[in-house]
Amino acid sequence: MENIVIIGNGIAGVTAARHIRKLSNKRIIIISAETDHFFSRTALMYVYMGHMKFEHIQPYEDWFWEKNRIELVRGYVTHINPEEKKLTIDNVSSLHYDKLIIATGSKPNKFGWPGQDLHGAQGLYSKQDLDLLEVNAPNKEACKRAVIVGGGLIGIELAEMLQSRDIPVTFLVRETSFWNGVLPSGESQMINEHILEHHIDLRLGTNLKEIVSDENGRVKSVIIADTNEEIPCNLVGLTAGVTPNIDFLKDSGIELGRGVKVNRFLETNIKDIYAIGDCAEQHEAIGNRRPIEAVWYTGRMMGETLAQTICGNRMAYNPGHWFNSAKFLDIEYQTYGWVFSERRKEAHEMHFHWRHPEEKICITVAFHQDSKQFLGINTFGIRMRHELFDRWLNEERTVDFVLEHLADANFDPEFYRKYEVDIVSKYNVDFGTSIKPKKKSLKRIFQIA
Ligand SMILES: Cc1cc2nc3c(=O)[nH]c(=O)nc-3n(C[C@H](O)[C@H](O)[C@H](O)COP(=O)(O)OP(=O)(O)OC[C@H]3O[C@@H](n4cnc5c(N)ncnc54)[C@H](O)[C@@H]3O)c2cc1C
Repeated sequence: MENIVIIGNGIAGVTAARHIRKLSNKRIIIISAETDHFFSRTALMYVYMGHMKFEHIQPYEDWFWEKNRIELVRGYVTHINPEEKKLTIDNVSSLHYDKLIIATGSKPNKFGWPGQDLHGAQGLYSKQDLDLLEVNAPNKEACKRAVIVGGGLIGIELAEMLQSRDIPVTFLVRETSFWNGVLPSGESQMINEHILEHHIDLRLGTNLKEIVSDENGRVKSVIIADTNEEIPCNLVGLTAGVTPNIDFLKDSGIELGRGVKVNRFLETNIKDIYAIGDCAEQHEAIGNRRPIEAVWYTGRMMGETLAQTICGNRMAYNPGHWFNSAKFLDIEYQTYGWVFSERRKEAHEMHFHWRHPEEKICITVAFHQDSKQFLGINTFGIRMRHELFDRWLNEERTVDFVLEHLADANFDPEFYRKYEVDIVSKYNVDFGTSIKPKKKSLKRIFQIA
């Protein structure tokens, strides 16, 4: 029987295992250094915030693995020997594979800041990080202030987590506006305001110089670059992005860049070795996507795709239109297609932006300047219907069509306020059009003939 070994029990590795099992009787072994069982990394924050227990973020019951004949090994893979098709676990035991899937995810970036390895300085990625946070910041008495370094999605999650225990937070963000490498300026500005209104001490355009130790090797304060201001704190959250977790592959002969280099079939340069999820790096980016996609759903899609290939139906990874969702404190954010920030957008990309006059609700629609083709939408505080945007992107609809039919896309519950009329009237003023928003039609949404 063919032996499939998967390193990493995150969403990518576990999805591959589940689908290989659906399609075949192959022997499947998953090795993980982190936990015995798969858990939802995106829900880690809710454990610290007390909304859920750790066992609640494990999507499968403990009996699931045995029932599905997926063998679980707890250990760290230290070495891979492709010639002998063997890997070494914890420098001791060895294991043979016929096919090997590398799904080892990411690790938090550290940029060599003085003091970055002190007790009390930590990232937020793993179950171990969550446990460490309980030690470093159990409450506001033990942790009088936290400083978070790096203004991305994990940074704002950590801020929300600490605030849920009344721990004051200073948030150091290198950029001049929050996440403005990704978000257009109107949205980024709205999030700046929202963070400040939540009494988070947001410091834009600010870099960390140094983390200072007390006499016991614990974090005592941070020093800000340029001003040399010293901020006393007991926790430093290092959330300045993530990097593929691939150090153990350095001498394996597997081609590495920032991640494990793969082709469209998720194959590495070595036969029978594949890489998926956060640690995989496409030789050439797919469309506007980045070569490394450190997001949940792409890991799942890669796992599903690779299972097909492993089971004899060689399939290219084809992720379709970009989408994602996240939360900025209590504001829900969704994105479909491409809406680039001012820093990344090309000359032909036009934006229509609408923001609610009082509430933290806004949308930005991107379209092609000449053809008016709809390119993408970002929404904050309004829930939209994914399938519909996917369809409109496939059908290459115009921005006028999308705005006319915006009510169809709204996925907010029935009695939520709707904003289509306000949105379309601003569009008409901005672009000299006279579009009339159509009423929501279930017939159109579900394409009932
Ligand atoms: C706090 C947080 C919030 C997030 N929120 C979102 C979100 O809202 N939306 C979104 O799209 N994405 C989010 N992400 C990103 C998302 O969680 C990741 O993209 C996804 O979990 C990556 O899955 P993966 O299977 O590739 O790797 P991972 O989930 O990282 O799993 C890899 C596993 O491999 C193990 N491993 C690594 N090396 C070895 C080795 N040598 N031997 C044995 N085991 C090894 C690791 O310990 C780990 O358990 C979030 C991430 C974090 C940390």
